[in-house]
Amino acid sequence: MRALQDLQQGLFLDSDGVLLLDGVRTVILPAFFLVELQDGAEKLMGRGAFGILYRTGEEFGRRVAEMTRRSLGTEDAAAVFRRIQVRTETRGFGRAEAVRFDPGTGEALLCMERSPMVEEAGTRSHRTCYFAAGFWTGVVGVLTGLAVTGEERLCRSKGDARCEFVIGPLPLPSP
Ligand SMILES: [Zn+2]
Repeated sequence: MRALQDLQQGLFLDSDGVLLLDGVRTVILPAFFLVELQDGAEKLMGRGAFGILYRTGEEFGRRVAEMTRRSLGTEDAAAVFRRIQVRTETRGFGRAEAVRFDPGTGEALLCMERSPMVEEAGTRSHRTCYFAAGFWTGVVGVLTGLAVTGEERLCRSKGDARCEFVIGPLPLPSP
């Protein structure tokens, strides 16, 4: 698998025991870590926890988009987006298919058939993938240069056939 070999080639353990992936300090964690974090935050804070996960994902997505654009050396939003799709999959976040990504309008629709976090979380009464929703929103925001917002419209956790993320321009504030 070529993508996995690329990932391995980017790994470096420095002499102080700090792991770097493409020059970035990296911690490899199992998917259940994110589920535990989400469950713990939800127990303490209720549904407000979901906003924290979304925001963390969004900031992560923004930084990944900036780093990927720099490393590819292109402003071609579609090319950077495709590269990020491959890298998120090889990092274990699951395969996100882009049904639509329009760099001109900031509209995107992504589907995940098998989210590792959903498979860890199992069936819930609510959606699970706030982190992923924030991540793809951050990516689209940086690559389009537009103010966008996103949400998970369908989630396998609550019984839908797949997870589906819808991203689009922020509505204009009312006058
Ligand atoms: Zn989901």
